[in-house]
Amino acid sequence: MKIYNTLSGKKEEFEPLSPGKVSMYVCGPTVYNLIHIGNARPMIIFDTVRRYMEYKGYEVNYVSNFTDVDDKIIKAAGEEGVDASVISERYIKECKKDMAGMNVKPATTHPKATEEIDGMIDMIKTLIDKGYAYVAADGTVYYRTRKFADYGKLSHKNLDDLQSGNRSLLVSGEDQKEDPLDFVLWKPKKEGEPFWPSPWCDGRPGWHIECSVMSKKYLGDSIDIHAGGEDLIFPHHENEIAQSEAANGKPFSQYWMHNAFLNIDNKKMSKSLGNFFTVRDISEKYDLQVLRFFMLSAHYRMPLNFSAELMEAAKNSLERIVNAAENVRFLAANSKTAEITDKEQQLLNETIKYQKKFESVMEDDFNTADAITSVFDLVKFINLHTGADSSKAYLNGLLRRLETLTGILGIETLRKEELPSADIEALIEERKQARKNKDFARADAIRNELLEKGIVLEDTREGVKWHRA
Ligand code: AMP
Ligand code: ZN
Repeated sequence: MKIYNTLSGKKEEFEPLSPGKVSMYVCGPTVYNLIHIGNARPMIIFDTVRRYMEYKGYEVNYVSNFTDVDDKIIKAAGEEGVDASVISERYIKECKKDMAGMNVKPATTHPKATEEIDGMIDMIKTLIDKGYAYVAADGTVYYRTRKFADYGKLSHKNLDDLQSGNRSLLVSGEDQKEDPLDFVLWKPKKEGEPFWPSPWCDGRPGWHIECSVMSKKYLGDSIDIHAGGEDLIFPHHENEIAQSEAANGKPFSQYWMHNAFLNIDNKKMSKSLGNFFTVRDISEKYDLQVLRFFMLSAHYRMPLNFSAELMEAAKNSLERIVNAAENVRFLAANSKTAEITDKEQQLLNETIKYQKKFESVMEDDFNTADAITSVFDLVKFINLHTGADSSKAYLNGLLRRLETLTGILGIETLRKEELPSADIEALIEERKQARKNKDFARADAIRNELLEKGIVLEDTREGVKWHRA
């Protein structure tokens, strides 16, 4: 199995630190809002990597954090006049709902930054003791970047270029730093912000330290795979390496995997341009499996453009797979013969080649686009070689083969009945009227009817909102 390693800039043969086991850390979202479809890309990609590893028989310990203390969370809390934890807990819950909709398995552990402060203080202490960090007059703790000889090895940056090239580092106004390249490990509290006591000052951690600490606690000093979006290579992952390797005295992660960005209509996705979609927005129009399928239709290291046309194409492609599976299920349920014939056994054996091909492209740095092609080749074979006279055993064998492959991609092949949006809106309106008339029994019946069809209603201050479960 080959994985492209950002550290070496090459595809490398995968060899885990412990035979049969894989330890994997994926940087998770900052929870101040509903996750957007860009955040969904690493979730789906690395969930698929995990599923493939599990298919190969590895025991995967998968850790993904929630950053639940951060300027954006504090700002959102201020705007609503609530505690920061109200915001972060709300969006962690919503994020987990979106993950479930996209068939992203829960991590083995989902640590939260605010619950790991003690570990962060311990690691910062170690870094100070080893001379890799220092305390400024106001209690801020900085990492002494130049002391870590390997700094820049992940992003392939040279320290001097960094210093002259990155103006923001020079004009940051933090004149208490020994060097403009130094970064914050701990910072003093500001009025009205959450804070924790520490040996240096009441305050909160810098952003990078949490991942070094959580990775060490849940996976150990050295891990197999560390992953995230490519924007995290510098400075976040570079700083994580500096912290972890200086503190632990051991190599941090063997393989560094980074997904390319998701763009919209060939432009960078951003709130200010108005070309910004949350996963929840998408769920109002599509089953989130379509979003997952769309994400997997491109190689993860290629930029991917989100557009209505491509989503429609993904929907239709997925439909072809579901149709084939449902057809086989129907034929199996109505088949008159139980026993597989010799000819059928031969055909079934032939389909191994699709699975082998699927494996070989997945083992070439997780080429999910080509893996989907193998699934379609199998679908074509199934459509061509099945009929009313096929035996139950043969049909079930084909279905198992298909579901093995779609299962690795995290795609389900059972048809979900889709209610058109207009019908949903009409039922919501009827429920509103029923409530107005105090006919709560009817209102509840409508809610339950929708729920059975996978539509979840939420009563909010702005009225009733709905999404597909
Ligand atoms: P954040 O909440 O910004 O820390 O992002 C969480 C994860 O989503 C990180 O791995 C980011 O690299 C990733 N991410 C954010 N925006 C995008 C995007 N447009 N395309 C792909 N990945 C993204
Ligand atoms: Zn991280």
